[in-house]
Amino acid sequence: MASDLAVPDTVFDNQQQLLKKLARPGARSLSVYNAGLSAEAVQKKYGVAHIAKLASNENPLGASPQVVTALAADACFSAIYSDASSAALRDALAADTGVAAENIVIGNGSEDILHMLALAFLNPGDRVVTLIPSFGLHEIFPRMMGADVTLVGVNARQEFDVEAWENALSAPAKMLIFSNPSNPVGCMLNREGFTRIVNAAPADCVLVIDEAYFEYCENDPEYPDSLRVLAEQPRPWIVLRTFSKAYGLAGLRVGYGLASHPELVNLLDRVRTPFNINRSAQVAAVAALQDKQHVRDSIALVTALREEMAAELTALGFNVASSSANFLFFDCGCPATELAQRLLAYGVIIKPWRETGYENWIRVSIGNEQDNRQFIDSLKRILTENAA
Ligand SMILES: *Cc1c(COP(=O)(O)O)cnc(C)c1O
Repeated sequence: MASDLAVPDTVFDNQQQLLKKLARPGARSLSVYNAGLSAEAVQKKYGVAHIAKLASNENPLGASPQVVTALAADACFSAIYSDASSAALRDALAADTGVAAENIVIGNGSEDILHMLALAFLNPGDRVVTLIPSFGLHEIFPRMMGADVTLVGVNARQEFDVEAWENALSAPAKMLIFSNPSNPVGCMLNREGFTRIVNAAPADCVLVIDEAYFEYCENDPEYPDSLRVLAEQPRPWIVLRTFSKAYGLAGLRVGYGLASHPELVNLLDRVRTPFNINRSAQVAAVAALQDKQHVRDSIALVTALREEMAAELTALGFNVASSSANFLFFDCGCPATELAQRLLAYGVIIKPWRETGYENWIRVSIGNEQDNRQFIDSLKRILTENAA
C-alpha cells in the first residue's frame, strides 16, 4: 500500500517477532472473532446481481422509520460529544423494563458489555462456564483475560443440557455466560431449566444471561421471566439485551445490561471507554423504543418465515434444530465451509460453524421472502449438482 514508506524486510520481520514477544499471552493466543463477509465484498468478487446476506441475524425490515427521522434531526449536532452517561436512553429503558436507571448499563453493542464484564471481573486462572456451540465472544473475552473456560454442550436433540450445567457448576466458577435463546442453535431454556441452572451456580459466581433474542420469545409462556427469577436469588447477575436484532439497529451498535445492583454498573463504568455510545446510537435507540409496532411486525414476519424455511430444509432431508430466534441451525451433512463457499457464488452469505463437532453445521438468518428464496433455491441447485 504505502510503498514510498516501505520498510526493509529485516526491520519488518524483527518488529513482528518483537510484537509477539511483548504482547500479553492472553492476547497473543486469542482466536479472532468470525465476523463474516460483507455484501459489498461478495458482490465485488462474484458479480452477483442481488446478495442475500443471511449470516448476521439482522432485521429484514430494517430500522423503524421513526429512527431514520430522529437520526436526521440529530445529525446537525454531530460536533457535540455524546452524553457519557446515556441518561435519556437509560431513563427510556427504565420505563420500558421496570428496572431502575441506576441498574442499567449501555454498551457499544452488547458485545461491549461482555468485554467490560471480562475486564472488571476476570483474573488469569478464573473459571468461566459457557455453552458450546456458542456465540464466539462468550469464550474469546474470558480467554483474553487468561480465564479457564469450561464448555458445556447441548444434548443430542440440540437443547440445553441442564444436568450437564449443574455438574459443571458444582465446582468453583467466577462467571457463567449463556444466551437464551442460544446463538447459534436457537434452543430456548424454559423457566424450570433456567431456575435450576441459576440455583446450581456457586454463591460467588457472576451470572451473565445474554438475551440478544429476547423479543422473539418474550410472549412464549415457556420463556423464563429472567428478571423475576433472578431477583429472588443472592448471586450478582446481569441480563444483556440489544438493539441489533429485533430493533434493526445493528449498524449503530447499542446494547444494554440490566444489573442486579448499581455497584455492578459502577464497576463497568470504570472499565468502559467514557463515550462508548455515540450520539446517533443513543438517539436511535430512544426512538426505536417508541415504535413497538415495528418490533411486533418484525417478529411476526420473521417467525412466520422461519417456520417456512425450517419446513423446506427438513423436506430437503436436513436435520434442523428447533429455533426460538431469527435464525436456523442445521446439519448440512458435509463440511459447512465448503457449502458456504459454493453458496457465495450464488450471492448467498450464511455462517458455516467452525467449533469442534459442528463443522457440518450452518447457521442461516431469516431474511425477507426474496432472500430466503434465493438461499433455498441456491441450496437445491447445489444439491442437484452434487447428485449429477
Ligand atoms: C448478536 C448477538 C449479540 C451482540 O449483539 P450486539 O450487536 O453487540 O449488541 C450478543 N449476544 C448474542 C448471543 C448475539 O447473538
